[in-house]
Amino acid sequence: MPTSKIHALVHSKCPRCHVGNMFVGPAYGLRKQKTNDVCPVCNLTFEIEPGYFYAAMYVSYAMSVAEVVTFALATAVLTGSESPWTYMVVLFATIIIFSPFNFRYSRLILLHYMTPKIVYDPKWELLEENKNKSDI
Ligand SMILES: [Zn+2]
Repeated sequence: MPTSKIHALVHSKCPRCHVGNMFVGPAYGLRKQKTNDVCPVCNLTFEIEPGYFYAAMYVSYAMSVAEVVTFALATAVLTGSESPWTYMVVLFATIIIFSPFNFRYSRLILLHYMTPKIVYDPKWELLEENKNKSDI
């Protein structure tokens, strides 16, 4: 059964096959995050041209602004504070805590939604399902 784009994005899967992992390891961990060079299933090169992930910075910036505005409003509503230090601490922590999330999902959003060259092909999923069945 074909996987939805949202499901593939949330689970950090390849935009073409929706099966292979785009990243090595979890988003939050002690190790540095690493993007696989190619998809382990369909062999798609994730960085489709040199420096392509620089475009993910724009996505990451938009995500950061949305998070900072949300947390600033939440802080204003919940604490009613007028001290700039409250906001500095909360927003600095927000940026630090969300940075691994932004790194990963900005690249995923870029490849899943903003790269018309990469099109989902359900044949890879079917091939992978058949391979798993034959292994049993
Ligand atoms: Zn793939």
